[in-house]
Amino acid sequence: MTELGPTDQTVLVTGGAGFIGSHLVEHLVDDNEVRVLDNLSTGSRENLPADAELIVGDVRSTDDLSRATRDIDVVFHQAAQVSVERSINDPTESFSSNIEPTIDVLELARKRDFRVIVASSCAIYGDPEYTPIDESHRTEPNSPYGLEKLTVDRYTQLYNELYDIETVALRYFNVYGPRQSVGDYSGVISVFREQANAGEDLTVEGDGQQTRDFVHVDDIVRANMYAAETKETGYAYNVGTGSATSIRELAEIIQDLSDSTPDIVHIAERKGDIEESEADLTKIQNKLGFEPRVPLKEGLRSLMN
Ligand code: NAD
Repeated sequence: MTELGPTDQTVLVTGGAGFIGSHLVEHLVDDNEVRVLDNLSTGSRENLPADAELIVGDVRSTDDLSRATRDIDVVFHQAAQVSVERSINDPTESFSSNIEPTIDVLELARKRDFRVIVASSCAIYGDPEYTPIDESHRTEPNSPYGLEKLTVDRYTQLYNELYDIETVALRYFNVYGPRQSVGDYSGVISVFREQANAGEDLTVEGDGQQTRDFVHVDDIVRANMYAAETKETGYAYNVGTGSATSIRELAEIIQDLSDSTPDIVHIAERKGDIEESEADLTKIQNKLGFEPRVPLKEGLRSLMN
């Protein structure tokens, strides 16, 4: 992967000790000076290679952000309150982590002239009117988290228009891969993986016909590297695989791949769950030249082993 992305630059990954951030760090660290700003709330020091500089601090602190962005060429802004459920239970806390810090990063970019790549989300679209979802699909998020991501996604584009800052927002679909945390709020793949490893049944919510676009974290890293290099700044791009997999199908693949051959059981559906999700990748393919490379079965096979 090292052929892609910045070299000999000083880069900051906010949230770099987390799942996606740590993969960005791993990719960048051989050819760049890599700094990480992370409060270790969900991330962990163990996720980081020794050569990365870790500043334990908070993106809600302008002092910490200011210190972390000194002499920086590119910021990959990943730090966020990432749980949809928590954003519903505590919208104020979620708002404070997800909106103002992103504007602060953009403001620092205005003063210090660095590029900013912001982690946005398919949660901005809400319940889709059609699939695959392109970037001009209407945005009606159904959680504070989705609304926060929509807000920063728009700010990211606006800063390019108003102040000529090089910015890109990447709308990640359902990301999976090594180091994804397992817990109440984690994605369905890490839940199934944990269940399979513990020899438990795989619990599918509802009839399992709901679909998602599962994208491997290596593809998310590659999309970020294109974003760091492109001249096509000032846009928001979907990042997924462009194919939909039902949760039932996913459970069956994991069942096949796991030694314990767990049973699949259906439990009550989750209220407000989106029926279908699938990214239209035309824009990122045409403007950035990005193509996803990791087929779901392959990504899952390496994850399960
Ligand atoms: P994660 O929880 O593993 O990573 C988030 C990191 O940010 C953690 O290391 C955490 O300690 C850190 N952090 C949180 N609040 C902070 C704060 N106030 N100050 C400093 N550090 C803070 O989650 P992830 O899945 O790696 O998500 C990374 C980004 O991608 C987030 O912005 C998330 O919203 C976005 N995203 C993720 C997915 C997905 O499927 N995982 C999908 C769409 C968007």
